[in-house]
Amino acid sequence: MAHSHEIYCTVDNCHYWGQGNHCTANEILVTADSVGATMPDTFDAPQAATANTTPCGTCMETCCKTFVPKGSDQYNVDNVLK
Ligand code: SF4
Repeated sequence: MAHSHEIYCTVDNCHYWGQGNHCTANEILVTADSVGATMPDTFDAPQAATANTTPCGTCMETCCKTFVPKGSDQYNVDNVLK
């Protein structure tokens, strides 16, 4: 089934950020900070369906794994498109 989502994000130094605080990535992976800190950049939304679940206690324990700094030449490592 097709879903329609608006992802808003204020991290405007991200490669995927767009006008109006829209995330323009075709898919993103939100996960626990611990995953963001330990998994390589190649682990991202394309692997999400089979990733381990990671309960969190507060919003401060979550992160966007898809973030790539604007201007980085690493934007295509995660196989996410914009
Ligand atoms: S990829 Fe993540 S950090 Fe980057 S604009 Fe989208 S939601 Fe924000």
